[in-house]
Amino acid sequence: MSTDYYDILGVSRTASAEEIKKAYRKLAREYHPDANNGSPEAEAKFKQLAEAYGVLSDADRRRHYDMFGAQGARGAGPGGLGIDDIFDAFFGGRSSSPFGRGGFGAGGGSSRAENFAGSDCEVEVPLTFVEAIFGTETMVEARVKVPCEVCEATGSAGNTDSKACGTCQGRGEVQQVRRTMLGSMLTSHACPDCGGAGSVIVDPCESCRGEGRRTELAEFPVRVPAGIDNGNQLLLARKGDAGIRGGKGGDLYVRFEVENPPEGWQRDGNTLYYTLSVPMTTAALGGKVSFVGLDEETTEIDIEPGTPSGALRKFRGKGVPRLRGSGRGDLVIVQSVETPCDLESEQEELLRQLAELRGEDVATSTGMMGRIKRALR
Ligand SMILES: [Zn+2]
Ligand SMILES: [Zn+2]
Repeated sequence: MSTDYYDILGVSRTASAEEIKKAYRKLAREYHPDANNGSPEAEAKFKQLAEAYGVLSDADRRRHYDMFGAQGARGAGPGGLGIDDIFDAFFGGRSSSPFGRGGFGAGGGSSRAENFAGSDCEVEVPLTFVEAIFGTETMVEARVKVPCEVCEATGSAGNTDSKACGTCQGRGEVQQVRRTMLGSMLTSHACPDCGGAGSVIVDPCESCRGEGRRTELAEFPVRVPAGIDNGNQLLLARKGDAGIRGGKGGDLYVRFEVENPPEGWQRDGNTLYYTLSVPMTTAALGGKVSFVGLDEETTEIDIEPGTPSGALRKFRGKGVPRLRGSGRGDLVIVQSVETPCDLESEQEELLRQLAELRGEDVATSTGMMGRIKRALR
């Protein structure tokens, strides 16, 4: 049985929310235990469908799943990992994923943790075409909330501590009785006055106004692996907004924006294309044309006699390094035959002789010599 959520729902990885919903509804009806005389296989499948749908129908969890696999979608995220570990987790595939903590709905239980958690942040980082292909090391700047150093993220100034919140008597939550058709129901919510902390600050820290965190332009060193494409993201765990008064920090998503390629270059996934100008004579007779790669190495490319314009030459393993997995894609050289447009009179004369020998009908001379000849007529 497949464990891939997309496979389970029978949808592509690019399926829209609507497609996912449709696929789930159809399969859920098919495997519903009631419709299968309580068959344990159908029940197992039904549970699996619900698990897959639970993740893929939630944009945030789907994004996590796409990056980290099932563990990432379930877990609350990593803590205390080095940046290299995060890279490995992101790019190394799910088998090496360290995101094993937490169960479904982690973080959804405690209202205090929710109210005091920092937000996830996103930052865009521009990369040149060459940096994206070969990788680089860079500093990422992001405006995020960091723990306040003055109060050590407690939010309290000096030695004065917090006191129990009067509204909730320190419980952090308030309960409410609701009358429903089924009788009275007791529901609890995070206390509106203390936000679920159970305590209020008596003498707030002046530096952070009692929040325990403040906004700063933070810098993070990032090793960009080779093979990044436009829009690829990298997650820096707990580098987003710090939580309120020491609450759990959010994550920082680094999104790469790759600049346009240099003249003549194009990229399609892991395949690189380069349009190489080949002089008309070299294309006809064969020869060599110098080619300068993105790594600035010069190679002589052999041109076959009789090469038509647009002919392709493929160099295996000389393209973009694969972000996931090993090896590189291919480099495809598009040979573009150049038509000379700045002929000197002697060159023109030779071409005319060639045309005559080949019995080709060419226009009368337009060059300097032609004009002189016509003027003298
Ligand atoms: Zn402070
Ligand atoms: Zn309270």
